[in-house]
Amino acid sequence: MAEEPKPVLVRERLDVCELDRARMSLLNPALIAQKLEDRTIDENAKPLIELTMKEGLETVWDRFEMQQPPCKYCEAGTSCARCTMGPCRIIPPHRIRGVCGADADLIVSRNLLDTIATGAAAHSDHGRDIVETLYLVGSGKTKDYGIADPEKLRRLCEEYGIATGNVGPEKLAAELGRAMLEEYGMVKNTLQFLNRAPKGTQETWTKLGISPRGIDREVVDCMHRIQMGVGADYVNILLQGLRCSLSDGWGGSMMGTDVSDILFGTPSVLTSKVNLAVLQEDQVNIAVHGHNPVLSEMVVNACRDPGLIELAKKNGAKGINLVGLCCTGSELLMRKGVPMSGNHLNQELVIATGALEAMIVDYQCIFPSLPRIASCYHTQIISTSSKAKIPGSFFFDFSPGNGYLTAKAIVRMAVENFKNRNPQRVLIPGVPVPLMSGFSNEAIKGALGGSFKPLIDLIAAGKIRGAVGIVGCNNPHIRHDYGHVTLAKELIKRNILCVETGCAAIASGKAGLLLPEAASLAGDDLRAVCESLKIPPVLHMGSCVDNSRILVLAAELGNALNVPIHKLPVAGAAPEWYSQKAVSIGAYFVASGVYTVLGVMPHITGSPAVVSLLTEGLKGAVNASFAVEPDPVKAADLISGHIERKRTELGI
Ligand code: SF4
Ligand code: SF4
Repeated sequence: MAEEPKPVLVRERLDVCELDRARMSLLNPALIAQKLEDRTIDENAKPLIELTMKEGLETVWDRFEMQQPPCKYCEAGTSCARCTMGPCRIIPPHRIRGVCGADADLIVSRNLLDTIATGAAAHSDHGRDIVETLYLVGSGKTKDYGIADPEKLRRLCEEYGIATGNVGPEKLAAELGRAMLEEYGMVKNTLQFLNRAPKGTQETWTKLGISPRGIDREVVDCMHRIQMGVGADYVNILLQGLRCSLSDGWGGSMMGTDVSDILFGTPSVLTSKVNLAVLQEDQVNIAVHGHNPVLSEMVVNACRDPGLIELAKKNGAKGINLVGLCCTGSELLMRKGVPMSGNHLNQELVIATGALEAMIVDYQCIFPSLPRIASCYHTQIISTSSKAKIPGSFFFDFSPGNGYLTAKAIVRMAVENFKNRNPQRVLIPGVPVPLMSGFSNEAIKGALGGSFKPLIDLIAAGKIRGAVGIVGCNNPHIRHDYGHVTLAKELIKRNILCVETGCAAIASGKAGLLLPEAASLAGDDLRAVCESLKIPPVLHMGSCVDNSRILVLAAELGNALNVPIHKLPVAGAAPEWYSQKAVSIGAYFVASGVYTVLGVMPHITGSPAVVSLLTEGLKGAVNASFAVEPDPVKAADLISGHIERKRTELGI
């Protein structure tokens, strides 16, 4: 029998200095009370934020305050450090060009292209890891994973032109995996999933020359253009940003979603619970954090191992309680109903409960600070991706080939750590909120009786005015969860259906909006629809890569009505976004014809030309644009105005 792998400590265990803590804990009580209100609307988070302030445990909000005021050139996007003739800043009226001659428009657009390429690369590389796992399953190189949805595997093979008659799932998995991996490089000069978009939308891309030619190719093209002395025209640079983002949304992310469904199951409607109170005092608590279900699915299996459950009991716990965080949490919640402990700004607070034995991370959105706060508790931070080693964490070199054995070793470590918990320091505030999840497109169709036609009819009849994808992160620039929850409430009140992913969906879950009972907060027409279908007015569609599900939903509606996506009464919103990935998402929404409202201003204000192109000029190119509105009530006004205009144009 193969031996379980052993972890390697990355650098050294961190120990947060007592002086740091003393300095932080000198806040007066009135200031603590004020800061609590300013920082979050998450009631379960408040006691823990209070505790961190009183005990001098540094969190994201403290570091945010220490970073104020920000550098105004970086904030405006007009600083450049791309080469050693610089760094350069644009300081009008005299310093209006960098050493190479780049002006504000070029510097801002190059920085933005860099951001889009980074986000697209992160999503698409995640997608590649999933597709590689499919290929390994098909070629017999891992026995730990299987095909959970053979019907979807066949459907995707047919989409890719792979003959399916009398062919077993393993062979199909290998062939589909290979065909998808080829799309990362460059073989056929186009991506298969672009064909899912309505004809009119595809024609817009072709006319503008922004149909992606390959996933890796578009990222490399972006990195080439931002090298000094290549791209010099801001319009041309930003068009490449749209093309790269499309290779994410209709490429890497879409593959990540669909192949995850094949490997781990296509989500169907289920119930679970959410917030920091999903941790349990009498159990070994393990949180999975990050994005890639290839790891977390194995952790789910390991947590069910009878030997490890027995070991937990021997160590004094009643069992093993696995909880999710951020997008890997959404993957598990959607497919397995694993309870969700929180979203992006909850990640340090989960540790501050004092009840977490281990946080297992893969990659993306993981604060490098986690081992610092963990050093004040018994919590072990366990990293698992060679791309994301974190000083102070214990590293396991996880791969699909050694998936289950590694997951068992990790869970064993967590179980053995239970005895190191200090019961005096445990604070699990409040009670969890129930929620409904699992709204894949297949599940939505199922709830509608097998097709999207009833949804189209409801939209045409005005019972549902339109649909909005609310997506993205948390950001300390915005009161935690306030942007998401307020926007969703405002929209459902106006009979607009919300579909959500990522940390936005988790914010809604904590606020009770992912429950059928939340229909009582909706306008009369939407309430009646939700009550008859027994669904919430806000539907959880998955993780960040699952924004591709929203694209597919929009495409299916467009195809059914025979109109391009930009003609539909739909919109996108990212009220609390922070990440480069969110910029890529916003760009592929807009490039696909979806008007998108951001709650946080990107670093572009140093170039009025770039601002004008993104908020106005794009309308003439892709029939959609960005808007920026930090106030979620005003954002709802913008969105409902847009939806009503689209309804009028459609004559409904
Ligand atoms: S690329 Fe141009 S603007 Fe940027 S640092 Fe170099 S010289 Fe300065
Ligand atoms: S929504 Fe944003 S913060 Fe949350 S997991 Fe996704 S990228 Fe990270």
